[in-house]
Amino acid sequence: MRKGSGKKILVEPDVLLTEAARLQGLDGQKMSKSYGNTIALREPPESVEKKVRTMPTDPARVKRSDPGTPERCPVWSLHQVYSDEARKDWVRQGCTSAGIGCLECKQPIVDAIQTELAPMRERAQTYLDDPTLVRNIVADGCDRARRLATETMRDVREALGLSYT
Ligand code: SF4
Repeated sequence: MRKGSGKKILVEPDVLLTEAARLQGLDGQKMSKSYGNTIALREPPESVEKKVRTMPTDPARVKRSDPGTPERCPVWSLHQVYSDEARKDWVRQGCTSAGIGCLECKQPIVDAIQTELAPMRERAQTYLDDPTLVRNIVADGCDRARRLATETMRDVREALGLSYT
């Protein structure tokens, strides 16, 4: 904080986390592109469907009639993000009683991810069709960053009593 000005400079950043701050990969391991267990923001719809449908589930559910435990299944972590309480109850009840199959359980996740990604794919297409739009945005961003950096450095010098005159 610069004395007398009420202006904060060099503010230490803090994390902004949601309830599901960390999402594991599709295979239940740490999410990483090199593990191939991610869904990209512009993942084609067929690929999203395939990746979710082939996700591993609770190993106890060998046959459709075997009950499972959602907490042992990576699909459950996606329900934490994409499903409301009613759907989570449906999963809990259906999984532990073998009342639902794993593909049935995964379908709402496929639908939710497709709904989430569709507008992103659409927006990205505008920039893929005209890359000069991206170049202009980057150039504007550089200008703004340069201006802000100059202002911040001036504030820092002032706060430290450094003068270059
Ligand atoms: S029913 Fe759902 S939560 Fe249970 S093992 Fe299958 S995919 Fe996982």
